[in-house]
Amino acid sequence: MKKKWCDYLWIGELLYWVLGLCNILFAWLGMLFFTIPLLVALIGGNKAYCSRYCGRGQLLGLLGKRLSRNAPPPRFLRSRWFRYGFLAFFMIMFGLMLRGTYMVFTGAPLRQTVTLLWVFKLPWQWARVDMVAPWIAQFAFGFYGVMMTSTVLGLVTMALFRPRSWCVYCPMGTMTQGICMLKQKKEDGGCGGEGQENCGAVENSRQ
Ligand code: SF4
Repeated sequence: MKKKWCDYLWIGELLYWVLGLCNILFAWLGMLFFTIPLLVALIGGNKAYCSRYCGRGQLLGLLGKRLSRNAPPPRFLRSRWFRYGFLAFFMIMFGLMLRGTYMVFTGAPLRQTVTLLWVFKLPWQWARVDMVAPWIAQFAFGFYGVMMTSTVLGLVTMALFRPRSWCVYCPMGTMTQGICMLKQKKEDGGCGGEGQENCGAVENSRQ
């Protein structure tokens, strides 16, 4: 089958990591990966972003061809309580990161570290950030940590289970799925027909 431009968006994901390593301020570009899926779900009422345009999902699918055990993800990973619980946890940690940014905005010293898996502080002293206000740099350090944490979790679940098992509990997937289900409920009193296909982050995990 002939490839389309959107089949190459995994390159954008790789580019994001390379640019961030060159200069941490490029971490701000990750906001696109946050806002675009939400806008697609809010405006289109579907998960077109997940099924066609997510570079991370594509990258996990490609790497998983060689590196995944291809085992079905455990049932708890698919459960509602785990997906929504993980989303809540992720949002709390995101909120703490924003709080750290605000503290730097109000005069606290800049911390040049990237936090991996919410615990490990990776020193990032070599980054040149003196051209921007300290809070802008602090957000970049924090956000790069958020992106790195979710990528590491995605890679681990890719290796242990199916290539796109991360999609089962990805916070963005859970949020967009919730939005599209709410929108469809409003329109036809349920999540059926085309919506069933569009709503399912779970479909991605089968790849
Ligand atoms: S569930 Fe997350 S990682 Fe998977 S395709 Fe959607 S946004 Fe991308």
